Amino acid sequence: MRKTSLIALMAIALGGCSVKKEIVDIPIIFDDQRMELTKEYLLTRYELDQKTPEITPKMVVLHWTAIPSLAKSFTAFNRPTLPNWRPDLENVSGLNVSAHFLVDQDGTIYRLMPETTMARHVIGLNHCAIGIENVGGTTDMPMTKQQLKANIFLVEYLASKYDIDYVIGHQEYTNFEDHPLWLEVDDGYRTVKNDPGMDFVEKVRNATKKFNFKPVPTKK
Ligand SMILES: [Zn+2]
Repeated sequence: MRKTSLIALMAIALGGCSVKKEIVDIPIIFDDQRMELTKEYLLTRYELDQKTPEITPKMVVLHWTAIPSLAKSFTAFNRPTLPNWRPDLENVSGLNVSAHFLVDQDGTIYRLMPETTMARHVIGLNHCAIGIENVGGTTDMPMTKQQLKANIFLVEYLASKYDIDYVIGHQEYTNFEDHPLWLEVDDGYRTVKNDPGMDFVEKVRNATKKFNFKPVPTKK
């Protein structure tokens, strides 16, 4: 009897594990308009003239959405154009923001778009950066342990698949301003970011030390 219950318990534990490591595809809209806007972004922001909006992944950027639910976070990324975009405003790309992955508070991993298609989630580096967004991040809805585990799993998964040199928090992105990977043409185009907090980033880095990621450049 005792043995049976132990086996059952182990099965539950293993089952729980495999659920967390599953990647669920829930694609955002990627129609012709989004395709064209993404190629336009690559051309105007980075001077990369490409037939397809493919990226060469070199880094993983961690984020939080600061939006309090999976559904609302998905909705924010789903539409191809920025909510208040006016096509008559030149020099401002109309491409909506997004990320490749969205991790819910319970640690479920959703893939929103192909891993090697450009997403708009980090100024200067979108041509080489895979983005992971986490639902929440506010005082009312802080990041969870399940999200931490899921982010560690994703970084391991991505670093095993691509030649990833850096794992950074969004708040660190301006440290790359003098780095060869930095391609943003406009020195005035910057936004201040504080997601997803250095505590979270350090925990992910510590758990993935075996990949020997390069240190984030220090700011001059
Ligand atoms: Zn962010």
